[in-house]
Amino acid sequence: MNQDIYVVIEHLRGQMADISYVMLAAARALAQGTGGSVMAVLLGHNAQELAGDLAADRVLYVDDPALADFTSDAYLAALSALISENEPRAVLLGHTSIGMDVASGLSARLGLPLVSQCQSLSADGKFLSQICGGKIMAEGALPGPTALVTMAPGGYKPEEGQSAEPPEVAPTAAPTLEGLRVTLAQYIEPEAGDVDISKEPILISVGRGIQNEDHIELAEELAKALGGVVCSSRPVVDQGWLPTSRMVGKSGQVVKPKLYLAMGISGAPEHVEAITDSEMIIAVNTDPAAPIFDIAQYGAEVDMTDLLEVLTELVEEEKGG
Ligand SMILES: Cc1cc2nc3c(=O)[nH]c(=O)nc-3n(C[C@H](O)[C@H](O)[C@H](O)COP(=O)(O)OP(=O)(O)OC[C@H]3O[C@@H](n4cnc5c(N)ncnc54)[C@H](O)[C@@H]3O)c2cc1C
Repeated sequence: MNQDIYVVIEHLRGQMADISYVMLAAARALAQGTGGSVMAVLLGHNAQELAGDLAADRVLYVDDPALADFTSDAYLAALSALISENEPRAVLLGHTSIGMDVASGLSARLGLPLVSQCQSLSADGKFLSQICGGKIMAEGALPGPTALVTMAPGGYKPEEGQSAEPPEVAPTAAPTLEGLRVTLAQYIEPEAGDVDISKEPILISVGRGIQNEDHIELAEELAKALGGVVCSSRPVVDQGWLPTSRMVGKSGQVVKPKLYLAMGISGAPEHVEAITDSEMIIAVNTDPAAPIFDIAQYGAEVDMTDLLEVLTELVEEEKGG
């Protein structure tokens, strides 16, 4: 067994996923205690250029046509061989559809312990993870000999896992990737939404507190005045008041605007996990005990349906003045 921390880099169709950088930052915190190196494990085909800004001591790059697109079958085969051969102290994967798929398979195949949905790792070998759908934070010591860990976003900024200095890339022999049972048949892209809320700097986000569909228009007017767009929590989309492309959260989009104005949103873990990278969160809620106030920089205990029109007028006045 060695003391290195492996980070399984997540990328799709030539795009690096932010969670890869988050994991590198977490791995660095852990490696300070183990004394090992941070090793990025990049699986792909003709994908070496993706390694350029990874804040890793070394990139183990496995190139194989069978790894050109993600399949759990190919990833499991490649990673099982790498982990069994090198026995790192920990292997970090994203708490994402891809990461959860691979981590559970690795755990079963290699008989290794899996700690899921981690927020942070520390030099003393401790992890902080969410359990019970995020209602409880659990702290513990990383199990051995090799701990598999899925990392959730929010604990580290992606910039912490990026480096201006390109890391050393070590081409690494692929295990035999023949006889795989799963191949990619086709990508089905989600329907293009009218706007991409993950890239918008100002979001007016409305929750169940908006009460009825007619009030959506008031939110749209405020968004227009502020130069932003309207998005929502899940109940609003479930009601059919906004399209799925506007949903923020575990089942929707992860957002990182300059301003996230959360109106009539309670702050359930499935919503909050997707907004923690916002620069500023302002919450409006009639319930002073709503958990959204715990993560908001500013809050107002007000009825949002009273506030919307007044706020729009004030913004317009301010702009006019
Ligand atoms: C597997 C899974 C995935 C999920 N994925 C998502 C997801 O992607 N996104 C998501 O959002 N949710 C998701 N959920 C649902 C999540 O658990 C919550 O139920 C949801 O986020 C609650 O939405 P809300 O805050 O709008 O509603 P509520 O929790 O009902 O909160 C409404 C809030 O509005 C306040 N309020 C009421 N009236 C007013 C008023 N007039 N003015 C101001 N405030 C008012 C109330 O005090 C309350 O705090 C998921 C759940 C599961 C189990």
